[in-house]
Amino acid sequence: MTGLTEQTQSWQQLDAAHHLHPFTDNQALGQKGSRVVTHAEGVYVYDSEGHKTLDGMAGLWCVNMGYGQQAVIDAITEQLKVLPYYNLFFQSTHPTAAELSALLAQVLPAHMNRVFYTGSGSECNDTVIRMVRHYWASQGKPDKTVMISRHNAYHGSTMAGASLGGMKPMHQQGGLPIPDICHIDQPYHFEEGGNQDPETFGLERARQLEQKILELGEDRVAAFIAEPIQGAGGVIIAPDSYWKEIKRICDQYHILFISDEVICGFGRTGHWFGCQYYGIEPDLISMAKGITSGYLPLGAVAVSDRVAQGLLSQGGEFNHGFTYSGHPAACAAAIANIKLMQEQDIVTRVRDEIGPYLQQQWATLADHPIVGETRGIGMVAALELVENKVPRTRFHKDKEAGMVCREHCIANGLIMRAVGDTMIIAPPLIITRTEVDQLVATARKSLDDTW
Ligand code: PLP
Repeated sequence: MTGLTEQTQSWQQLDAAHHLHPFTDNQALGQKGSRVVTHAEGVYVYDSEGHKTLDGMAGLWCVNMGYGQQAVIDAITEQLKVLPYYNLFFQSTHPTAAELSALLAQVLPAHMNRVFYTGSGSECNDTVIRMVRHYWASQGKPDKTVMISRHNAYHGSTMAGASLGGMKPMHQQGGLPIPDICHIDQPYHFEEGGNQDPETFGLERARQLEQKILELGEDRVAAFIAEPIQGAGGVIIAPDSYWKEIKRICDQYHILFISDEVICGFGRTGHWFGCQYYGIEPDLISMAKGITSGYLPLGAVAVSDRVAQGLLSQGGEFNHGFTYSGHPAACAAAIANIKLMQEQDIVTRVRDEIGPYLQQQWATLADHPIVGETRGIGMVAALELVENKVPRTRFHKDKEAGMVCREHCIANGLIMRAVGDTMIIAPPLIITRTEVDQLVATARKSLDDTW
């Protein structure tokens, strides 16, 4: 902590003494000190020492429209003046919740016209479990309760979210998963595909879902939940054969499909929702993060007309909700954010212009001696660090190549995340070509420094 300004040291000391950070070794942080981020603009964040860093992760995959969007800030401010809080319980609503619901119905796939509000992605996935079980009970099938998910998926940090997720370290700490949740393998070809060709591997991984349903019995299985692209697991992109087969299986065995769009939603893949990139129709969608570009916390679960009809006609009261479900200021932020996206036609820009440009530039890193693979879609991408390309070998675990690379990135002015030895990016969708060039050049320099 030496060589830092007094102000930075003071913030670090307060933080170390009184704050427990999420997903952080808090003891190690006490020695090293936090990086104190003080302000941000566009695609850049600034720390208390005056360093300017290109935010290659859009915060936590959420600041899709970048920092400092005045229209969103103004909408929040105005809403706080008019109605800082009211709830959506017991037959009440407020104008921003009503208007946002209609706006979401406009951008959602055509067969989805209703949403339930939460405060976060984790709360969405908790809600989803109760909602699908309630739905099946309303259809006279109360035994359809089992949720199938994937190893190494991330669906949040609440008990139910972490149980749905397939992150082993999270399961180890909480006695998870909770009952009636099970997992199949992920479609991660680079790590687990061996010599199999990607399409055969994709089909095999999809058919694990069928095997699991047959093992448990169709009458026990409520739903399959998955991220279109597994984000926190390392930007895992399934081979082309995977998703159509998954959908066939869900339809054939009458299993609901939940698309967790907390990362993939709101333009990241060049479509409003990641399921649209793959041409699959979910029964439910979980969304959060990009819905407000992270300016305020908000989540929403969208349901298909079929599920909505079941819930409305047979379901009775849904005994579920959060004090901050559809907070007025968060809804105002979402409305302003979505309108901004529409005005700038940002989704088309990601699909046709800046997304292809990012992917083309990112792919140039594949020739680097420690890069085993680059991959990506739209505004999300990954690369795999390897010690040798042929035969392919990973770095020794003790080298912590991913963490080393991440630290070099920060020193060089770029935030890139490490998932083991997979380096990942998900920059704001408003990034310019010049900024993409800077991102890729900084990533290359950081790879050189790691080598
Ligand atoms: N689902 C996915 C796919 C996520 O990536 C995340 C968070 O990163 C969540 C759910 C949980 O969202 P939150 O952190 O808002 O609870």
